[in-house]
Order: sequence, then C-alpha cells, then structure tokens
Amino acid sequence: MPTFVYMTRCDGCGECVDICPSDIMHIDTTYRRAYNIEPNFCWECYSCVKACPQNAIDVRGYADFAPLGHSVRVLREEDKNTVSWKVKFRDGREKNFVSPIRTTQWGSIKSPADYDPPSAEDFKNQELAHEPDALHIESLPTLSTNNFKQGVV
Ligand code: SF4
Ligand code: SF4
Repeated sequence: MPTFVYMTRCDGCGECVDICPSDIMHIDTTYRRAYNIEPNFCWECYSCVKACPQNAIDVRGYADFAPLGHSVRVLREEDKNTVSWKVKFRDGREKNFVSPIRTTQWGSIKSPADYDPPSAEDFKNQELAHEPDALHIESLPTLSTNNFKQGVV
C-alpha cells in the first residue's frame, strides 16, 4: 500500500523526506509540496505517515487485493505518546488500535562525533564502536570453557 500526499494539506516541511528509508519522498520544486516519486519502491513502513505534522500523507491499497472502499489511517500524537490506527473495511466494520510510541526523542541519541575517536587498542577487542556504553550494560557477556562443561557427565 504505497503512500500519497494530499497537496492541499502539505506545507512542504520536509519531515517525510528526511525519514523515508527508501528516499522516495521528494519536494516538488515548483509547488513546494511533497510527493511520492516512486510508489512501487515504497516499503509501506508508515514512517512518513506518522512523521507528517499536517496528517497530509495517506496510503492507498493496490486494487487487486484491497479493492476501493477500505482505508487505513494512522495518527502519531507525541503529547499523548501514542500511535493510533483506524482500519475501515469495505463492509463498514472498523477496527481501532492504540499503541505507545517506542522510538526515542529526535536528537536524544549521541552522535558518533560525541564519542572519543577509537585508539589503536580499541581495534584489538571484540566490541563494536561505543560498546558496551551504547548497550547500557557494564560489559559484554563472555563464555568461558566452564560454560561448555555444563551437563557433561
Ligand atoms: Fe517512504 Fe515508508 Fe513513507 Fe513508503 S511508507 S514513502 S517507504 S517513509
Ligand atoms: Fe508535507 Fe507532511 Fe511531508 Fe511535511 S511531512 S513535507 S507536511 S507531506
């Protein structure tokens, strides 16, 4: 179900452009409004739908498996910390779901530039960059030879 933009609601802020993992949300240079340049490449991830402050992005089902008449709407409300889903079926049934926002606040994650550059010693250990700090643990779990003896008679 690729996305499309209601141009009358869009104000051209570019949030959808920044968040789209498929890089298919672009700003039209003439109208200064966003549009999906290649619906076939849409991941259907709904990131842009949730990120749009104007609720200007909607999704359209392919007619072969989701014939006209249904709709899926999603609303991200940061003040309530919720993402609300409204699914309407062609026969009029409606399902509503509310789930918590699980992503971290924009700008709350340290950038690589905030860490010290790696030393020559860092390249000799098994930890990846910024581990174990970034995992919020004191050290990575390790296996010792005793671990393999468990259960052996
Ligand atoms: Fe990009 Fe995902 Fe939006 Fe599709 S649903 S346009 S992949 S952000
Ligand atoms: Fe337009 Fe919404 Fe994209 Fe901003 S996030 S450019 S308002 S469609």
